[in-house]
Amino acid sequence: TKRVYLFHEGNAKMRDLLGGKGANLAEMTNIGLPVPPGFTITTEVCNEYYANGQKLPAGLMDDVRAAMKFVEEKMGRTFGGSYRPLLVSVRSGAKFSMPGMMDTILNLGLNETTAKALIEETNNPRFVYDAYRRFIMMFSDVVLGLSKHDFDNKILQAYKEQKGYKSDLEMSAEDWKLISEKFLEYVREKTGRDFPTDPYEQLELAIEAVFKSWNNERAIVYRRTEKIPDNLGTAVNVQAMVFGNAGDDSGTGVAFTRDPSTGEKVMFGEYLMNAQGEDVVAGVRTPVPISELQSQNPELYRQFVEICNILERHYRDMQDLEFTIEHGRLFMLQCRSGKRTGPAAVKIAVDMVHEGLITKEEAVTRVTGSHLDQLLHPRIDPKALEGKKPLITGIPASPGAAVGKVVFDADTAAKLGVHGGAGEKVILVRDETNPDDVHGMLASQGVLTARGGKTSHAAVVARGFGIPCVVGAEGLKIDEEAKTFTVNGTTVHEGDVITLDGSTGAVYLGALPLIAPEVSGAFAELMSWADSIRKLRVRTNADNPRDARQAVELGAEGIGLCRTEHMFFEQDRLPIVQEMILAQDEAVRQNALDRLLPIQQKDFEEIFEVMAGKPVTIRLIDPPLHEFLPSHDELLAQVVELRVRGDNPQELAEKEKLLRAVEGMREANPMMGLRGCRLSIVFPGIVEMQTRAILQAAVAVKKRGIDVYPEIMIPLVGHVNELKTVRANLERVAKKVIEETGVAIDYKFGTMIEIPRAALVADQLADPQNGNAEFFSFGTNDLTQMTFGFSRDDAGKFLVPYLEQKILPTDPFETIDQEGVGKLMRMATESAKRVRPDIKLGICGEHGGDPDSVKFCHRIGLDYVSCSPFRVPIARLAAAQAAI
Ligand code: ADP
Ligand code: MG
Ligand code: MG
Repeated sequence: TKRVYLFHEGNAKMRDLLGGKGANLAEMTNIGLPVPPGFTITTEVCNEYYANGQKLPAGLMDDVRAAMKFVEEKMGRTFGGSYRPLLVSVRSGAKFSMPGMMDTILNLGLNETTAKALIEETNNPRFVYDAYRRFIMMFSDVVLGLSKHDFDNKILQAYKEQKGYKSDLEMSAEDWKLISEKFLEYVREKTGRDFPTDPYEQLELAIEAVFKSWNNERAIVYRRTEKIPDNLGTAVNVQAMVFGNAGDDSGTGVAFTRDPSTGEKVMFGEYLMNAQGEDVVAGVRTPVPISELQSQNPELYRQFVEICNILERHYRDMQDLEFTIEHGRLFMLQCRSGKRTGPAAVKIAVDMVHEGLITKEEAVTRVTGSHLDQLLHPRIDPKALEGKKPLITGIPASPGAAVGKVVFDADTAAKLGVHGGAGEKVILVRDETNPDDVHGMLASQGVLTARGGKTSHAAVVARGFGIPCVVGAEGLKIDEEAKTFTVNGTTVHEGDVITLDGSTGAVYLGALPLIAPEVSGAFAELMSWADSIRKLRVRTNADNPRDARQAVELGAEGIGLCRTEHMFFEQDRLPIVQEMILAQDEAVRQNALDRLLPIQQKDFEEIFEVMAGKPVTIRLIDPPLHEFLPSHDELLAQVVELRVRGDNPQELAEKEKLLRAVEGMREANPMMGLRGCRLSIVFPGIVEMQTRAILQAAVAVKKRGIDVYPEIMIPLVGHVNELKTVRANLERVAKKVIEETGVAIDYKFGTMIEIPRAALVADQLADPQNGNAEFFSFGTNDLTQMTFGFSRDDAGKFLVPYLEQKILPTDPFETIDQEGVGKLMRMATESAKRVRPDIKLGICGEHGGDPDSVKFCHRIGLDYVSCSPFRVPIARLAAAQAAI
């Protein structure tokens, strides 16, 4: 098999074989852009290298020599030659861009002979020795395992100090020559060997180092967090050098064809004259914005803009570019699809449709759920970010921006923060979080950790609660005693204000202005395209009129889950609910229910009005009743205290009675106890009241001229007889209301599918002659919990290690486990449709807002998904993507 591809032999589709960088260098070469010649050693060779016990395959270097011959001819130069020597760069490049892999080696091929030849050729010894010292340092760093910083900080810095130089620009040819010699000496001292001078030996060692870097610690960790398979391997690109450091008419830079943070159609980037490669990002000198090239060299700028346009038209996407100017000539060194923020992704996709570059369908596929997620959270005003350098940048783990005072422990966060605290805006900063920190996280605006990746505890919990979060901010040193953290010499104290951006990972000192989520303009346009493409309907989970209204604004087409028990928790109602639960005789209980009826009816009326004509699925009471009572431990403590004090026998008696009741209702396993439809069978009064409230509300609203479509949902059914019993009872109530009022209501009865057994007997449940469910809603939270046997409330303890060790590919509470839980859903769907072709099928678990799960729901033929209001646009987009 072919191991080495010259650039013109490849193309952009060959990313698997040539890596992203190699494939795009090939593509740019073939569309006629000025790319220095070179070749790519394939990713297969990398795998061969490992299969071979870390040895380069026999004959590889012969292929490399043949390819070098071609490059030599193209350049009119000789590798290792004493006249017009060829220098090359050796660059790693996997299928997916992977920071953490090998650094590029520039200027490879330099030694005493070639350096001399290059000086004769260019008459520029300063440039040659500058290139030489860079080469020695990079090669020693990546191939010989010496630290770059030793060269930079120890040797170069000391030399500059001794000379009294402030910047590298003051270094003369002689200075750089001396530095090169010092570097070579240092290598000899450290490794006990001479720095390799044979160019082909240099090249072979460099190629091997790239392959080795595929399995270095940083690369492995990166692949794990980004879910990149370990067996892809990396390619190696060898390319003729062009020199941005050849003089004042030379330079190097990076650019985006559009602004990657706003999406505006303006060139965005930075460059440095008389500099090489990494200088732009390394921060040794401050680069200038690309717009200045226009005044500095209008012809070059024109050329550059033209190339950008060619690339955008060719790739039909925003590109991220690297370029170098050598003596006024422009060369392209890299291009790829540019990373962008959510707002930029939406704007670019919509603009490109208007520009005729892409179709609406393509635009819809260009935007991801997490892009939209960024748009739907507050974000930092991009204007405030201009010229602003982050204090530190970690891994973006949960989107949205947050401003707050730094606190270092969860208890302080809980005490000062929101939800029960003093209501201050705080940001919790920790090395890592663990389950003991959750209360503090919940009270915080944002969470920042020094360690951990995208699946760390902090990341998982923050995402779950929608709290902006940045993790793995390496370099952030926390001193818990002193209550400070330090980054690069800057110390931040408890109480100081910082701003963090969970969408980019950036953390800033001070309070930056935030802007509200955007739902108009490009966003609205993109969503309208998504809506015209998708087949799945999107509903929302909403328990109150406020959430319902918000969801409708975000495009919800109905309510897929209205949890009635949340209404019971409100302050004025809880005492009545408790009275109802604790009632010893029927009359007292009925009295409490009678008082709850108008309250529930009013709740439903408001929701029906907001949803005007859209279907509303209402789930009858679901949780175990003890959730409405004070906790056992709390009561016990009160009783003990009252007994000790002995001053209030009446209160003591009441509390004792309550304690006995709570004890009587105690369950070892409440989630599998007396709840859902089991409650409806044991205490039918509650759901009879609820059904009456629903129907009476529907009648009242209909009388006001508003259409109502209530769908009454019976939870936790496992056996068809449960459904039959409850339904028969409630249908009687519904019919009675219609009879009493004389107003016909188009209502349905259906069930949740959340117990594995229900999925197994779905045909019995749906059969009009049997369970007669007119709709199913997959309650995938419980279905996942019961199918895996994972307690949702305790899973945090083991899910994090499970994900880290790849025991599970994804969190099954976040993305549907298609093989297991999904199989049950598919079976239930198919068997229900056989007996009842028009059955309505939906999903109302958290998964309804997860893009991958939404796509799965499309594939198995559900009618709708239902999710929390803020996920509605994400579900609409995912549904459209599923249909393309
Ligand atoms: P990374 O993947 O880290 O960006 P690259 O391989 O793209 O690494 O290279 C690092 C830097 O070196 C970039 O600025 C790039 O433009 C520059 N560079 C790479 N190859 C050459 C070359 N043949 N001539 C000049 N500069 C080069
Ligand atoms: Mg690069
Ligand atoms: Mg449930």
